[in-house]
Amino acid sequence: MDNLDKKSILITGGATGLGFAMAKRFSEKGAFVTICGRRKEKIDEAVSNLKVNSIGIVADVTDEEDRDKIINQTIEHGGKIDVLINNAGNMYRGNIDELEESKLIEIFNSNVISGMLLLGKAKQYLRATEGVNIFIGSVHNRRAFPGASPYAATKGALETLTRVLAAELGKDKIRVNCVVPGAIFTEINQRAGLFDDDQAKKRLNSMAKIHALGEIGTPEDISEAVEYLINARWTTGAILDVDGGLGLGLTEG
Ligand code: NAD
Repeated sequence: MDNLDKKSILITGGATGLGFAMAKRFSEKGAFVTICGRRKEKIDEAVSNLKVNSIGIVADVTDEEDRDKIINQTIEHGGKIDVLINNAGNMYRGNIDELEESKLIEIFNSNVISGMLLLGKAKQYLRATEGVNIFIGSVHNRRAFPGASPYAATKGALETLTRVLAAELGKDKIRVNCVVPGAIFTEINQRAGLFDDDQAKKRLNSMAKIHALGEIGTPEDISEAVEYLINARWTTGAILDVDGGLGLGLTEG
């Protein structure tokens, strides 16, 4: 029997990129997968490419009623929640003197606050299964990209939350861990209007040389690490860098 067999796994923002790679991997391993996202066409397309043990919910994690819907439908589908993957996230960049308050609130809402509130709602179910929450951090917390302070600040918050909530929820046998991905081609920067697909690919490929392993990663590299943390029974409060060595700050000589 596979170690994900019959586990009920909720992945926010699971229709694209890293979340979709996780959904695909875990559904192929027999898990009951629930993904959610705001765009119906993306959710429908994703679910049509997943195993039949998967459902998609059109929902915005920043909306209180939608968060209830996400939890309730996950329970209806999987009968329980073993794993919550707080993956949904957005990019917002700008120099410090150009930042807009509403956009800062928006990115903290989607990247940090929604995940906290969703975990709060999922707690009773994760306690019942001795389950695990996984946050998705970023190499932006290892390497300082000028102009990326809003995004980096949200990802720094997730690492802090990982440790504090692991301490808080340990007595309930709920584990809290964080995977910190490096540079991977997805649509996050394009959705933020920063680059088109070609520019995003060129930018990422030009970064290969500053990775210790000399190459950028794939969504599957991240889902492999998430799977490890789902099954790592005695690991909590862990922050696992999966970045080909980008975060090391490689220098010549
Ligand atoms: P992506 O844009 O493909 O995936 C993010 C998903 O979250 C999208 O489907 C988006 O629609 C969804 N989402 C955003 N806000 C939402 C909301 N309010 N409600 C519901 N869904 C929402 O990009 P990705 O790279 O796969 O991003 C996944 C996670 O990985 C993010 O947290 C991102 O910050 C993180 N990450 C990505 C990289 C990378 O290089 N791609 C590196 C480090 C961390």
